[in-house]
Amino acid sequence: MEKATFKTSYLAVRPERVEGGTANCGTVSKKKGTLYIVSTPIGNLEDITLRALRILKEVDLIAAEDTRHTLLLLRHFGIQAPLTSYFEGNEMKKREFILSKLNQGDRIALVSDAGTPGISDPGYRLIRLAIEHEIPVIPIPGPSAAITALSVSGLPTDAFLFKGFLPNKSKRRRDLLKQLEEVKETLIFYESPHRLSETMRDILEVLGDREIVLTRELTKIYEEVLRGKVSEIRNRIGEKKRKGEITLVVSGRTRKRDGETRQKTYGEHR
Ligand code: SAM
Repeated sequence: MEKATFKTSYLAVRPERVEGGTANCGTVSKKKGTLYIVSTPIGNLEDITLRALRILKEVDLIAAEDTRHTLLLLRHFGIQAPLTSYFEGNEMKKREFILSKLNQGDRIALVSDAGTPGISDPGYRLIRLAIEHEIPVIPIPGPSAAITALSVSGLPTDAFLFKGFLPNKSKRRRDLLKQLEEVKETLIFYESPHRLSETMRDILEVLGDREIVLTRELTKIYEEVLRGKVSEIRNRIGEKKRKGEITLVVSGRTRKRDGETRQKTYGEHR
């Protein structure tokens, strides 16, 4: 159906070449393959895009962070495609294999367990390698926990700093937070439920009593979004271990000392 919308001259190339903007750049013989960076839902399966489904159906191979996990997703959508694992532990070995397939002309989709591959997930080095070998890398955009959390936070979204996971050890975590003390942009962190209360303590002690938004299990049945001062949210969650996946969105440095000042609004001059 998609092909019907293209000019005849475009039919000689694969649809993804057209999407990638390289359709009419000359000869198409001995083409290299394509690496698709395919985002998948962070919880709710309805968040997969139509394009992601089509690409996952069409590719020669899916390189998945956890093949068992991805198999569940594929089964849900009735997709059968060859899978290979690509995770932090085997990426050095696997990337040569994936590169050779791409050089032979294969179309490969990279997926992580959830969200956008490469965002606190394996993928970056494979993407670089593909670029170095002049293999087209095509984004198939979709959800990412960081942006999903930011979008409902109510904190300024015009500029933000995503820091991925904070360090496990309190000393290193506090050192990093100290470096972020003067940052005016909204801060985004991924966090493990096991460390949550220690992290909240460190944020309070190092960054001060700022606005914070704790998001948990976004797009899932037990989705939770708690907004307030760090001290309030800390009291609400207490010491009880919380389960599920957590993203924290923290106000950037405000003009006066945090805890004494109002929150800036979107677009306000910093
Ligand atoms: N690549 C993914 C993305 O684009 O969102 C992130 C992968 S990172 C390994 C996983 C972390 O993202 C979790 O530990 C959690 O901090 C956050 N996360 C993932 N799903 C989430 C959800 N549904 N709600 C809140 N945070 C989530």
